[in-house]
Amino acid sequence: MKYVYCPACGKKLTSKYSYDEGNVPSCNHCKTLYFDTPKPTVVVAVVKEDEILLLKQSYIYKNSKVLVSGYVSQGETVEETALREVLEETGIAIKDIKYLGSCSIPEKDLLMLTYMANYSSGSLVKSQEVEGVEWVKIKDALSQMEEDVVGRAVVKRVLCELSKG
Ligand SMILES: [Zn+2]
Repeated sequence: MKYVYCPACGKKLTSKYSYDEGNVPSCNHCKTLYFDTPKPTVVVAVVKEDEILLLKQSYIYKNSKVLVSGYVSQGETVEETALREVLEETGIAIKDIKYLGSCSIPEKDLLMLTYMANYSSGSLVKSQEVEGVEWVKIKDALSQMEEDVVGRAVVKRVLCELSKG
């Protein structure tokens, strides 16, 4: 996010030279630099045998299902975010969390960290934030995720990982 005003005191920021970072917006009053950094989010592909966990959230994509995702909270590791979001949104516990790679979406101010994980325990309990949650055969998942470009890439990566055995 490109800061113009200080989020703490509201004063207009000025450009300050910060060594190897170059010029960075700075609040002279609060003595704080405001880097143009993305918000870290996690995307988790949860796998249970030949099925994958998909959500329906119409506010994200009207005609597509999506993987579990969420913002990283302050003080939380990304792995903790993955565990928390899957539990909150679907009621299940995961294990064997494996990092697949990252994806930057500057126009949405996001840095998406993508993971796959195995189902551990619990049964599906839909949260109020979610319209639907279900296990879908992995081979059918891509055809139900037309609009979710990042999610589709993650599922392709998962298929690749699973084919390695
Ligand atoms: Zn300030």
